[in-house]
Amino acid sequence: MTIRTGLGWDVHRLVPGRRFLLGGVEIPSETGELGHSDGDVLAHAVTDALLGAAALGDIGELFPPSDPAWKDADSLALLKTAYNRVRAADWHIINLDCVVICEKPKVLPWREAIRASLAAALSVSPEAVFVKGKTNEGLGDTGTGRAVEAMATVLLEKRL
Ligand code: MG
Repeated sequence: MTIRTGLGWDVHRLVPGRRFLLGGVEIPSETGELGHSDGDVLAHAVTDALLGAAALGDIGELFPPSDPAWKDADSLALLKTAYNRVRAADWHIINLDCVVICEKPKVLPWREAIRASLAAALSVSPEAVFVKGKTNEGLGDTGTGRAVEAMATVLLEKRL
């Protein structure tokens, strides 16, 4: 067996009139993620972690923001498409760990729903997926509620 680690990061502006999505879960919020797609910052970070671990490119290459096909796209569907490529290369998830950074809303009450949503999208057990919420201690655009960031790290295995 060989293993590979992958890292993903993303940031989106937060504006009124948009949905706030984390890993496919819509969270009640006064602001939501601005983006060409649905703006799901966590799904994007996870997608890049998976693609990076398998050395198969990045989310911007697979789904260019300049392509109208991805306007308002369901980011969980993009994640599934990316993971299908990863699996086609014979890589499988051992575990996925994530951090979401925003001042509000609180992520913790939604943790289990987000874990379940990502696990279902990736056909793994929720035990293999974890998510933590952090604030940015009031610092910078994320700390003043103008942005949300997400980081993800994944471990993949390939049986030889
Ligand atoms: Mg993004």
